[in-house]
Amino acid sequence: MLDIDKIRKDFPILETVKYKRPIVYFDNGATTQKPKVVTDTLTNFYLSKNANIHRAVHFLSQESTNAYETARTTIKSFLNASSEKEIIFTSGTTESINLVASSFGERFIFKGDEILISELEHHSNIVPWQFIAEKKGAIIKVIPMNNKGELILDNLDNLLSDKTKIVTLNQVSNSLGTINPVKKIIAAAHKKEIPVLIDGAQSVQHMKVDVQDLDADFFVFSGHKLYGPTGIGVLYGKEKWLEAMPPYKGGGDMIKKVSFEKTTYADLPLKFEAGTANYIDAIGLKSAIDYVQGVGLQNIAEYENDLLKYAEQKLKEVPNIIFYGTSVNKAATISFGIKGVHPTDVGTLLDKLDIAVRTGSHCTQPLMDFYGISGTIRASFAFYNMKEEIDYFTESLKKVVMMLT
Ligand code: PMP
Repeated sequence: MLDIDKIRKDFPILETVKYKRPIVYFDNGATTQKPKVVTDTLTNFYLSKNANIHRAVHFLSQESTNAYETARTTIKSFLNASSEKEIIFTSGTTESINLVASSFGERFIFKGDEILISELEHHSNIVPWQFIAEKKGAIIKVIPMNNKGELILDNLDNLLSDKTKIVTLNQVSNSLGTINPVKKIIAAAHKKEIPVLIDGAQSVQHMKVDVQDLDADFFVFSGHKLYGPTGIGVLYGKEKWLEAMPPYKGGGDMIKKVSFEKTTYADLPLKFEAGTANYIDAIGLKSAIDYVQGVGLQNIAEYENDLLKYAEQKLKEVPNIIFYGTSVNKAATISFGIKGVHPTDVGTLLDKLDIAVRTGSHCTQPLMDFYGISGTIRASFAFYNMKEEIDYFTESLKKVVMMLT
């Protein structure tokens, strides 16, 4: 289905040998590696096309501006948004959520209102809401999860009260890989005219996302988890919300007219893009999306699902393993612990065997509290990973467990 040998050649870092063999990179949930076409795009742009955007009449600036706005159009199509006005470039998921929490919260959240989040959230989809809740005197409510790491939706109708001003949750859990039924949750919230923000930091790289089909009010993601550069991300917002929200930051490019008495703001999307945008990384992100679409998101989803099922079976061979997050609907992530062993010790020894996994709370401490643990070992796969790597991982893990127990 996928030509993995050819794909792996596009990612030179996968040839890195620190100890004995090429690195087995299973930390894709934290960040993905970059295909050479993305780094070439960045280098070429800096070396031959760079000029600040939206500023000057000279040809370099025009080219830069065109390339930046073309990147916006690519992202519009990638998410199936209805207009470029709905695509705001940010520095990443974290900034996108902070923007919405701060600006939507300023305009729409007041004393006694409720913000509904899920128990599976990353800290970046908890803390910004706590800021605004504290500032406005609002209350955070939580959709609970079960032992399999699935959201419990039986009581959703009651959680969606007439005080709820926004629902915010991820489409895929970074810690467990659970795919949440966001379309169903959005439909339930919309019955009560409550908007929903979807954190797509862990979904856009694994599945096709259509914001109109989901009917999401806001959708956010980071470039670096989608094979693109760091420091660039996206906020999709329905035009009606973005129009109603006040600017988040002030500065150049976000204004229409400035005087000492009064300033008027630029139209969307620039109203939310104060200062010199990270235009080159936006252009790099376009190149990453083109690459991913060349491979095909459907092919990626099928290939990664096959890897996931294979790894779930193989890892059962490891003594004393405890799996966390066993929903049937999962993206390519496996979280586990080893009875009586600290995750960091496992991660440290695996590193010596050329295997990169993530250990710890994965920025989801409330989720760890649910299980009564401090952290897990997480293997998160990408479409450049292979079954041979999973075999090596399983055998290495068995050795490590033998040493530590
Ligand atoms: N949400 C989820 C589900 C994530 O996995 C992450 C990154 N681990 C974030 C938000 C934050 O993304 P970033 O650090 O790129 O802003």
